[in-house]
Amino acid sequence: MSQHFDLICIGGGSGGIATANRAAQRGAKVAVVEANRLGGTCVNVGCVPKKVMWYAAATAEAIHDAADFGFDVELKGFDWGALVERRDAYIKRLNGLYAKGLEGNGVTHIEGFARFADAQTIEVESDRGTEQYSADRFVIATGGQPVWPELPGAEHGITSDGFFELKTQPRKALVVGAGYIAVELAGVLNALGTETTLAVRGDRPLRQFDRDLGDALVRGMAEHNLEVRTGSEVEKVERQSDGTLAVTFKDGGTLDGVDSLIWAIGRRANTADLNLSAAGVEVLGNGKISSNEWEQTNVDHIYALGDINGKAELTPVAIAAGRRMADRIFGGMKGRKLDYRLIPTVMFSHPPIGTIGLSEADAREQYGDAVTVYKSSFNPMSHAFSDIKPPTMVKLIVAGEEETVVGLHAIGPGVDEMTQGFAIPMSMGATKADFDNTIPIHPTLAEELVTLK
Ligand code: FAD
Ligand code: NDP
Repeated sequence: MSQHFDLICIGGGSGGIATANRAAQRGAKVAVVEANRLGGTCVNVGCVPKKVMWYAAATAEAIHDAADFGFDVELKGFDWGALVERRDAYIKRLNGLYAKGLEGNGVTHIEGFARFADAQTIEVESDRGTEQYSADRFVIATGGQPVWPELPGAEHGITSDGFFELKTQPRKALVVGAGYIAVELAGVLNALGTETTLAVRGDRPLRQFDRDLGDALVRGMAEHNLEVRTGSEVEKVERQSDGTLAVTFKDGGTLDGVDSLIWAIGRRANTADLNLSAAGVEVLGNGKISSNEWEQTNVDHIYALGDINGKAELTPVAIAAGRRMADRIFGGMKGRKLDYRLIPTVMFSHPPIGTIGLSEADAREQYGDAVTVYKSSFNPMSHAFSDIKPPTMVKLIVAGEEETVVGLHAIGPGVDEMTQGFAIPMSMGATKADFDNTIPIHPTLAEELVTLK
């Protein structure tokens, strides 16, 4: 006989684990099914290993800048393998902590791959064979995986998953893509000393962000000898006799001697093998599952949250959506749901980028002439003595007579830790006057945002 639960979360990543723990804390009988390592993308092949690599890259930059402050520092080497070993041991500890957390909350952890048998039942395949479980409600939080291009020799490359498996540092890397992952991985590799090229098919990376951010970042990349190839699409990839890759672009250009080619051209949803039709759940053309403001799919008792619904593919969003859903359904907190507007996010580039709300272009589309832009570009004091100044800019986009702040964008040293705080007043409807009434903290980069003229 199959075991029955109040709630089964399919996927033990950011969204599934958060939902399960909160629902169990509210008294529900809950299971999480995970086919792989607990923690999902963020912990195993996403935010966590990426941030560790970014910290290493930031350390390399600090060593480089040390001479500006009078230090006589000689860099004798960098042991990529040792860093990767420590990073992976850290992740293993996190996997264990997630298992402990579920256990502590009384959540059943089912190891295996789930697919729907009908709208009330799933089958889980594992070393134990095929087992059936039923539930009153399901959460689909199966996340996504990197997209591979279809072109000759594409298999010679790797994706972000493969990047985190590299045991030695690439000597010469080509990163293809223009979003978060391409920019972050190219930045890390370059700062750690790999000869790096970023190939974007458009006129710049980060096209979906405020234009000033992408433009500023490209200037910074150029100053750090990170080559950005614009209007570049790969035609084919060939393995050479010395083991390196020769890449040919559609414009006829080539890049030889590449020992690491990273495809970072987006991610696709893990829905294909879920047998969703058996449960009657509709899948969109891009493989994602549409869910309403309550995270419900077209089948009332089946929910879809996190990357799978494509609303905002960020770990804190998956967690917040899941916890709110569990609070509402099992905690009696009527009306509790996630507001997807004004989600703060940081790009761990070099220097980092922070952004909240609308880009200038989106604000103008939404508010027309009622938009005013306040902006300042400057050299940060942290690099007053350096030959190379990191591109640094802050920008506020305000709308209406009240001058409500609807967009905040910044690039520069320290912006990664600064952005979170500005999300609070913005979520409360702060105006430009509220920003101006705030006493600046001097001397900081953040103060520029409350002194914009
Ligand atoms: P996931 O975390 O992907 O979890 C889904 C889980 O479901 C997986 O563990 C998978 O094995 C499991 N699964 C899939 N199908 C089945 C099945 N049928 N049966 C059982 N289990 C199944 N976000 C940030 O906020 N900050 C960052 O700095 C950041 N950096 C990132 C860096 C990289 C390189 C990547 C790839 C992503 C990054 N993200 C970051 C995004 C973040 O990782 C995702 O938004 C987040 O993990 C989404 O959580 P989720 O629960 O929707 O899915
Ligand atoms: P993104 O969707 O951010 O970027 C992928 C980009 O690649 C597209 O925007 C597109 O840009 C370009 N692209 C698409 N297809 C091709 C192609 N065939 N050839 C060349 N370029 C192509 O995806 P990512 O995989 O970078 O990241 C996935 C998500 O994970 C992000 O959206 C983000 O939500 C999350 N994430 C968050 C991070 C953070 O919070 N710091 C870090 C990493 C990921 P264009 O159209 O301009 O060519």
